Amino acid sequence: MAYKKIRMELNKKIALVAHDNKKIELVEWAKFNRDLLAHHKIFATGTTGTLLERELKFPITKLQSGPLGGDQQIGAKIVDNEIDFLIFFWDPLEQQAHDPDIKALLRMAVVWNIPIACDRASADFIISSPLMDKTYDRLIPDYDVYRNRKVTGVETPPLPIPGVTDGKRRRSTDAAAATV
Ligand code: PGA
Repeated sequence: MAYKKIRMELNKKIALVAHDNKKIELVEWAKFNRDLLAHHKIFATGTTGTLLERELKFPITKLQSGPLGGDQQIGAKIVDNEIDFLIFFWDPLEQQAHDPDIKALLRMAVVWNIPIACDRASADFIISSPLMDKTYDRLIPDYDVYRNRKVTGVETPPLPIPGVTDGKRRRSTDAAAATV
């Protein structure tokens, strides 16, 4: 299988999200790991971010509240290579109004091969990984195969790719994630 690479820099872009019944757990985890997290750029859904900022006392980029589109904003940032990994303490015991958004977010994380921790033990393993202090090249399947697939009964021209103006498949550094 062909792959392309997306570089994770030394300073990671980390998204933190917790459902209401899991917020205390995430705040405790983040407080314990405060000094490690402070070296990185932290994003969060609205309510989670407000709580974390209060406890951690460093700035966090706060998006919309999850049910109001925050999960989808994080998903879009994953696609645009603006998030390197996701700590998402979702609640396994309660139905959420925005269940489809949660599923979509987890799906985008897998499509773009970013690490995801959905519970505290996984988050501990990720945050203590030696890879946190290094650059790391994520391998992404070569999605050109998918983009150029044959659609039955339709003549499909090559799809335009963001950052490419002359019809040639050239990679733009500004839109790295969009072009792989
Ligand atoms: P919240 O969203 O941080 O705004 O509560 C979390 C979520 O439910 O996705």
